[in-house]
Amino acid sequence: MQQLERLWAYQKEDIKVTRYEGEMRAYPMRTKLLRLRNLVADQQTLVKGMEKDAGSSLEKLEEMQRVHGELLRQVEEIAGTLEDENAFPTAAQAHKALAQLQEAETKLRGFEKELARMARDSQHIGTRYREIRQKAMKAREEYTKLKAQYDLELAKQNERLALLKEEREKAAEGIDSALIERYMAIKGQSFPPVATLNGDQCSGCNMSLPAVVMQTIRAGESISECENCGRILIPPQE
Ligand SMILES: [Zn+2]
Repeated sequence: MQQLERLWAYQKEDIKVTRYEGEMRAYPMRTKLLRLRNLVADQQTLVKGMEKDAGSSLEKLEEMQRVHGELLRQVEEIAGTLEDENAFPTAAQAHKALAQLQEAETKLRGFEKELARMARDSQHIGTRYREIRQKAMKAREEYTKLKAQYDLELAKQNERLALLKEEREKAAEGIDSALIERYMAIKGQSFPPVATLNGDQCSGCNMSLPAVVMQTIRAGESISECENCGRILIPPQE
């Protein structure tokens, strides 16, 4: 059956196209470029996250500075009243004011420690942020450079692919479109979709075939599919 011979020839061209597409996908420069693109994206996310964090810690710092100012005022106020000898008629009152001053001072010192810790932290974060930004910029530069190189290569690859596809198109001439459609449907499940008889086995899945099926295939009267893998089965080919 000429249709099946043509389909076999078509498959040869289709295999070339499919293989070449696979080579293009696995092309080292392309995979490196994809890795680099992911790296750039990750670093951008990191940088954005750090910028957001920096924004909220700045808000927190401003709030703490405001509270610090208040505490400082409280301490000064109490200290001011303590200087005024007439402000406390009794020793108990003076004692109480002194205790208040000590309490406010302790609070203030604790607060200043916390502020200093935050300042140190933000310095560390700032250093890390600059490092990451620099890395991100470098990765982006590298990506842009490699992308330009790859685009040139890709243009060549696409040219070659177009030629292979042209050959495949030529091979498709004279084949019933229904048969091509069947071929395509099987291709989604098993590749390559056309298998030959190998003794009494399907060359696609090595399953032994019933004698009656082999007879039908050898006679080439109708198109048979392997019961196991679904491939179109044809007699042995060159
Ligand atoms: Zn099979």
